[in-house]
Amino acid sequence: MDLHTLSVAALQQQLRSGAVSPVEALDALEARISAVDSKIGGYLSHNMTHAREEALRADISKPLGGIPIAIKDVINVTGEPCTAASKILQGYTATYDATVIQKLRAAGAIPFGRLNMDEFAMGSSTENSAYQRTANPWDLSRIPGGSSGGSAAVVAADEAYASLGSDTGGSIRQPAALCGCVGLKPTYGRVSRFGLIAFASSLDQIGPFTKTVEDSALLLNALAGRDPMDSTSIDTPVDNYTRLLGQDLKGIRIGMPKEYFIEGIDPQVDTAVRAAIKQYESLGAEIVEVSLPHTEYAVAVYYIIATAEASANLARFDGVRYGHRADNVQNIVDHYMRSRAEGFGEEVKRRIILGTYVLSSGYYDAYYLRAQKVRTLIRQDFSRAFEKVDALICPTSPEVAFKLGDRSDDPLKMYLADIFTIAANLAGICGISLPCGFANVDGTKLPVGLQLLGKPFEEAKLLQIAHAYEQSTPWHLERPVV
Ligand code: GLN
Repeated sequence: MDLHTLSVAALQQQLRSGAVSPVEALDALEARISAVDSKIGGYLSHNMTHAREEALRADISKPLGGIPIAIKDVINVTGEPCTAASKILQGYTATYDATVIQKLRAAGAIPFGRLNMDEFAMGSSTENSAYQRTANPWDLSRIPGGSSGGSAAVVAADEAYASLGSDTGGSIRQPAALCGCVGLKPTYGRVSRFGLIAFASSLDQIGPFTKTVEDSALLLNALAGRDPMDSTSIDTPVDNYTRLLGQDLKGIRIGMPKEYFIEGIDPQVDTAVRAAIKQYESLGAEIVEVSLPHTEYAVAVYYIIATAEASANLARFDGVRYGHRADNVQNIVDHYMRSRAEGFGEEVKRRIILGTYVLSSGYYDAYYLRAQKVRTLIRQDFSRAFEKVDALICPTSPEVAFKLGDRSDDPLKMYLADIFTIAANLAGICGISLPCGFANVDGTKLPVGLQLLGKPFEEAKLLQIAHAYEQSTPWHLERPVV
């Protein structure tokens, strides 16, 4: 048996039956990482010493007992580097566990490894990492998506059983789609962000990357819940997210937002998603056309709000308390300016400048305030649609993975990669991406992702709907040959 190929649920069974030990499960991953990560570049580092100690004393009776889970480099894990793939945090070692890490540990899981990403989670291809490129396991000349490109690539390439990422405008769902795995963005407030390096605080959420929908539910069971350390986390009861898995779709209504089936989508993506919609009909769901009339403003609104919040959040990286510090400075202002100029990459600087501009006096009303108003309209679009349907269905990304380097010089084109994922963050709802087929590009098979969006805090139903499709189709069984 190739242990490293197992899903979390399958590994759990092996561990509980005693057929496999937690140390063996970890060793299998380490061997796989040694064999393929020089090609993929998903891990920034993976110090296994600590993980092995934990594996030796793992309690397999716990929900995720003995299961290693890889972590995006934006989530703090005690004693591990945490750089957000930025030079400004080079050499920084985390002094505490993020709440999600504490929760994984409480469930018996073993957090390990640091996964590559776009610097400060700003990007859609992981090319903005200050350290390395990550390749798409289906075609090494292509991007894995972003910003959680490492998190998606290592799960797709069987270098991790599951991983954590963060999603501010699509950074879990879009790379999951492009790498052919399952990525869940929980409802805003469902999962604590304490210990997540903040990008845009009114949008950021942490969520899992997995090989199956069931695994996604298993991880959410461990991650969800109110945390007094994150005042935006909400005290709604935590569901059992595997509760509805396997139930049929009779009586379920799924909305097809007409604004998401537009010109400009890759025809092979369009075909795969429409076939998925047919499949849902044959599973007994009712498909209804709905409208989200303010969709066209989502990208513009996002790049005002996200950059405004980023410019404030990133002010703390000043080279005084931690992180990169410029040499031979003349005075304190020189210190700030040069430390930041040297430490931040180009995209991060672009966002800080944009964000500072939209918040500056004289422009605040015209940009920031207006964007907030349009955000409300976008949120109302979803509330209205959810009066009629249980979930929405659309492509996760308008296209399949593009070539490394193809978009690096064109930020606007890059921003459009998130055209279908951003609105869910603005509205605070939950969303999932799962495989729904393949495009054939010059003889290469590239995964296509299906996005389902759900009502706030109704992750259990979202997972039920995703699971029914997954189990009736073969897509999740296909693995790339690395
Ligand atoms: N690609 C989007 C951006 O660059 C979203 C990133 C994210 O979700 N972290 O901002």
